[in-house]
Amino acid sequence: MPITPYHFGPSGLLGLLFRRWIDPVVFVAANIVVDVEVLVSFFRLSNETAHRVWHVHTLLIGGIVGGLFGLACWDIRPVRRLIERIGRALRIPYTATVGKMILGGALGIWLHVLIDSVYHYDVQPLWPWPYNPFHRMWIGFYSEPQVRHWVRVSCLVCLVAAMVVWRWIVARSRRRLKPRP
Ligand SMILES: [Zn+2]
Repeated sequence: MPITPYHFGPSGLLGLLFRRWIDPVVFVAANIVVDVEVLVSFFRLSNETAHRVWHVHTLLIGGIVGGLFGLACWDIRPVRRLIERIGRALRIPYTATVGKMILGGALGIWLHVLIDSVYHYDVQPLWPWPYNPFHRMWIGFYSEPQVRHWVRVSCLVCLVAAMVVWRWIVARSRRRLKPRP
């Protein structure tokens, strides 16, 4: 994805919908962590193409990095406190657990890798197998600009849906907290 914030739509939506099992804040934050790899190539610190520098844009390495990121979020206490504070600021019913954070980190990067696989030719989701079946699959039917356009549109639709779901969660928890007459 050209700009990481596009990923906030799908990750925000799924993070909110499945917040019982995955940490929504870590799930979204994992999408920023994975793109550090792209930054490295952007500053010409590596000769590899943008998504192959450390193989974080793969299900294998990405899953491990995401899981470790989730564990670090739990283990480093100030980070955990910050994430809890963000959860509370979002006004969603939120309890941090180590399992939810590890799962949030790993699945957050997996979702990112799958979206990037459709969008970018150079992502190797199934690395060490050096191919990208998800990109090829669509390019057989549509042109590359069309595929990219629809990925971006889908991400924006997810962002709007995430906002609707967030409003609904906040309204519902407010109703629950209201003292009954
Ligand atoms: Zn990416």
